[in-house]
Amino acid sequence: MDSSSSSVPAAAAAEGAPPAGENLAVFWHEGMLAHDAGRGVFDSGRDPGFLDVLDHHPENADRVRNMVSILRRGPIAPFLSWHSGTPAHASDLLSFHSPEYIEELAQANASGPKKLCEGTFLNPGSWGAALLAAGTTLSATRHILDGHGKIAYALVRPPGHHAQPDHADGYCFLNNAGLAVQLALDSGRAKVAVVDIDVHYGNGTAEGFYCTDNVLTISLHMKHGTWGPSHPQSGSSDEIGEGKGLGYNLNIPLPNGSGDKGYEYAMNELVVPAIDKFQPQLLFFVIGQDSSMFDPNGRQCLTMDGYRKIAQLMRGVANRHSDGQMLIVQEGGYHISYSAYCLHATLEGVLNLEAPLLDDPIAYYPEDEKYTMKVVDVMKKCWKESIPFLKDI
Ligand SMILES: [Zn+2]
Repeated sequence: MDSSSSSVPAAAAAEGAPPAGENLAVFWHEGMLAHDAGRGVFDSGRDPGFLDVLDHHPENADRVRNMVSILRRGPIAPFLSWHSGTPAHASDLLSFHSPEYIEELAQANASGPKKLCEGTFLNPGSWGAALLAAGTTLSATRHILDGHGKIAYALVRPPGHHAQPDHADGYCFLNNAGLAVQLALDSGRAKVAVVDIDVHYGNGTAEGFYCTDNVLTISLHMKHGTWGPSHPQSGSSDEIGEGKGLGYNLNIPLPNGSGDKGYEYAMNELVVPAIDKFQPQLLFFVIGQDSSMFDPNGRQCLTMDGYRKIAQLMRGVANRHSDGQMLIVQEGGYHISYSAYCLHATLEGVLNLEAPLLDDPIAYYPEDEKYTMKVVDVMKKCWKESIPFLKDI
């Protein structure tokens, strides 16, 4: 079922549908379900001995099974086409990762289960899934670069945005988005922008392009700081790149409870103006549903409405700067059912559908956007003063 590609049926051209012939290409391979990070107290892998029932690791196959099924069987299905991903070759990985690190992963895979860092477990099946996630993301990127479509979504796991050039971090082994960005650069795109809305700092992607000015990395995240040797970056707003890359890594740590209105304000005041100044030739939209209000790993309180709005704004900048071309890359998102709904809303936003196809089943927590707006205003002032290409945003 994954080896075939299909187009939008003519009958699906409902009110609000994208122009005829335009659809969103989903790249997926069920082999990515083989990664099993085990059980324990949440993501620790530990059994304290006094609990009868342990959690599945939050980055489990079920979360992605629901993402696949809502897209295949939900009301957005007619707007999607499905394409099979293929595993990356080891040589593909060296554009972002060091040969020593890739060798270390291959050896770890050969020698049996291994905890690479806190919460990150390489078990039988994990390496094959990681190669598929990287290769599937590269296939989705080629789909755009080769002119087969304008919008592609790499529905992949294990996630990648914490994986750094030479080590694993935060459930991530290979940096899927980073590899895709490098492919775009190597294929002649002179300037590329990455917007990462996973609730955690996209530190691995940022690290890979920290010293270059042809990749603008922007990350909106919860203010979580460093979390150990695998994740030394703080994600604070003063980590702005180095050397030639100074000013081209923009971190937007947002207060807990920022919610839909807080994120929309940050997008309109900071992200969209920065991309409009940078004028990328390709846009990468790195998504994580762990910014939702029910995620066990986050406190940002986005609902389906918030994801839809963010995605609409991203589509707007893609239309203005990259002829509508956008690669969407899946990262975290750990609530088993709500992550799927938020993904659905995100793709609705990217497709600019006129009206939601699904109601939000569970949104009812309060937000705290006023504090977020103050934080964003302060950050905008700082950008004007310290980021040369943003002095007049
Ligand atoms: Zn995350």
